[in-house]
Order: sequence, then structure tokens, then C-alpha cells
Amino acid sequence: MSPDTLVSFASAPSTEAPAFDYAGFDQDVMQTYGRFPLALERGLGCRVWDTEGRAYLDFVAGIATCTLGHSHPVIVAAVTDQIQRLQHVSNLYYIPLQGELAHWLVEHSCADSVFFCNSGAEANEGAIKLARKYGHTRLGIAADIDPVIITAQASFHGRTLATVTATGQPKYHKGFTPMVRGFHYVPYNDAAALEAAIAQLNANGPQVAAVMLEALQGEGGVNPGQVEYFRQVRELCDRHNLLLILDEVQVGLGRTGQLWGYENLGIEPDVFTLAKGLGGGIPIGALLCKSSCNLFEKGDHASTFGGNPFVCRVGVTVTKFMEQNDLLSNVRARGEQLRAGLNAIAAQYPDHLSGSRGWGLINGLILRDDELKAPIDIVKAAMDEGLLLVPAGARVVRYVPPLIVSAAEIDEALALTERALATVFGD
Ligand code: PLP
Repeated sequence: MSPDTLVSFASAPSTEAPAFDYAGFDQDVMQTYGRFPLALERGLGCRVWDTEGRAYLDFVAGIATCTLGHSHPVIVAAVTDQIQRLQHVSNLYYIPLQGELAHWLVEHSCADSVFFCNSGAEANEGAIKLARKYGHTRLGIAADIDPVIITAQASFHGRTLATVTATGQPKYHKGFTPMVRGFHYVPYNDAAALEAAIAQLNANGPQVAAVMLEALQGEGGVNPGQVEYFRQVRELCDRHNLLLILDEVQVGLGRTGQLWGYENLGIEPDVFTLAKGLGGGIPIGALLCKSSCNLFEKGDHASTFGGNPFVCRVGVTVTKFMEQNDLLSNVRARGEQLRAGLNAIAAQYPDHLSGSRGWGLINGLILRDDELKAPIDIVKAAMDEGLLLVPAGARVVRYVPPLIVSAAEIDEALALTERALATVFGD
């Protein structure tokens, strides 16, 4: 196939394509996801199109992943150029683009070095390994004692065995026992509970190696961390020599209106992880740490695809674009606009909705505790109106549009939300 044919194939009108075979898909692909009956094949900016040619305003963005929206010209240009130069080489060799992305990340954060991988779960796996090594080597936890990582209830850290164990939601553990040893759960935003857990676990000598938290719990219901809580968490970690690991997979790289989620909390972690937004939709993950806990030595950790030239070119492109276009200002302004609009809408339905919460462009519309309708009902109605949203936890509808979203697109999403709610609540 010549390059010309490829281009015309990719942009062929979708109306000429055969109807999408949902049943065939369901037979061939493992049924691990609860999918909506919607097959997407094209995107541009904040909009995606299904196989029938219908457009949707995309406020899911691959779940907080497509930082620059879909098919952004700078990403198209970068990947097109990079694929023709070098797509993949092993980490047996130096990869200049990996160094360039790592340099940007350490220059712009509290971290001093970076390990690249492919996903959020993989980045968190690296953080868990680092914490265990820290526990054994720095805290003197004997080889036959399990170092413990304390995580929060309602957290989400991934689906590999260790990260799903770290995830403080029993529903994700069901059917997969035995879980990985060395995790303990405490309520989020409750410093007294954390202090008590550390005291209990360390009663017979040091056993706790780290505390691992999200700056804002995304999957758990768009639940922001409290400044005073994190001040105390930092203080407890310092007092007991524990690593403070922040999982910034969903909120890192600008989504909260700050480059890093921890900037909203007035503290610095020792270790943090990134994924989703860093590649703008191309798979990449990263584990970052301060030099004081950079304990990995040659041979300790590896990932075949981690930090390859192709993904790092995209990461460099996304980060540069954010910086050169002051995207953080847009995130803050559009976030305020969205929350104000959602609060006004919620005020129209006081019996059903209690308001909105979030930071920057990760926001939730909150259903009242006694509301009988579920977030999924609103998500489905919004989809019928042409707006893509995603539930978060049992009571929240999440709005995580691309960070390039415009004021007009926020207004459009609010108008579509109003129409959807009128259907759901029967006005
Ligand atoms: N950590 C957080 C906070 C997340 O929100 C997610 C995914 O939603 C993960 C980790 C897992 O990331 P991935 O699906 O890339 O493995």
C-alpha cells in the first residue's frame, strides 16, 4: 500500500464503512471491560466520531490521558517524523530523547531522576519495588520480614497483582487471592488513622517502609487531598523515615492546574509516578524520585519498551507544548468555568445533586447520597446527547476533557449536561 493510499484509507467517509460488528468484537476480545455500545474511529481536538459518523464532545479524553486532545498537529508532526527516524532501540544504549524528557521532568519537579515504563500500573510497581528496597536497606527491615506500604481506602493504583493489592478497594481483589503481601489500608484524609497504623505496625520494630497516596483520588470519586492532611502525612513520614510516594498517574502533568498534583498540597513527595497525560495518548509511564532514595542499581529494574525514542518524542512534544502555550492557565480558567457551570446546574436539582468538586480539569458532578439514580445513568444520557463522560466511584460523574479545551467547548458540555439531566431526572 503506498503512503497516498494509506492517507485516503484513513480519511475515507465513515458512512461507506460496514456497520460495526459489536458481537464479533465481543467474541474475539476478552470481556474485561463494561463497554458502551459505541465504536469510535476518528478524533480531532476535543471531538471524536463513531463508525456511523456521529460526533461526540469528548470529556473523557481516554480517562484523563489525551492532554492535547485528538490528532493534535504537533503530535501528528512529531510521530510522523520520529517513526521515520527511529522508533525503538533497547535500553542497552543511550537514547537522547529519553534523556531530554527526563531532563525536562527533573528540571520541572522535585525529583532528581526518572525511570521510564509503559503504564501507570508499571510505574507504581517500580515505586513498590523501590519502597521495599528502601525498607530493607535503609530501615534495616530484615529479609524475612515484609516491609509494609500503607495505602488509602478508595484508592486506585492499577491492575497488576501488586498495584491491585495496593488499591484499597476490595471489589478489585475479589477472585484474585492470594493478594501480594505487605500492604495496609487506612482512610484517606485522616492523619490520626495513619499515625495509629504506623504505631501499630512498627510496635515490634520498623516494618512500615512507605505511604503511597493519590494527591486527589480519581477513580475513588474525584476526592481531593486536604492540605492539612498532607502536611501531617509528610511530617509522619519524616518522623518515621518513611518514603512518601504519590501516585500522580491520573493528575500529574497539568491536569489539576498545577504541573504536579502535590503542588496543590504544599508538600513534596520522595517518589511519584506518572503515566496517562505524559504521552497524550501514546503509552508511557514514569517513576520519579529524589536522589536521597534513588536506590535502584544496575539490573534492579527494566522494561523493554520503557523510554523508547518514539514515546519519548511524544512526551517531549507534549511537555514543550504545555510550557510554550501556558496550558496551565487554560486548565485553571476552564476548570473554574466548568465548576461554576456544574454548581449552577446542580442548584437546579437540589434533591438529586449536591454540587461539584475537583481541581483544574479533573472535576466531578456529585449525586446526593440518597439519590436513586447512579452516575452511569447520567453518563448514558449524556452520551445520547453527544457528550462523553465517565463515572468515578458510586456517586460521581467525572469530567476530564483534554487540557486544550476551549471556553466554547466547556459551555457546550454544560448545555449537553443540562439536557441529559432533564432526561434522567424527568423534567
Ligand atoms: N494510578 C491511578 C491514580 C490511576 O488513575 C490509574 C488508572 O486509572 C492507574 C494508576 C493505573 O494506570 P494504568 O491503567 O496506566 O496501568
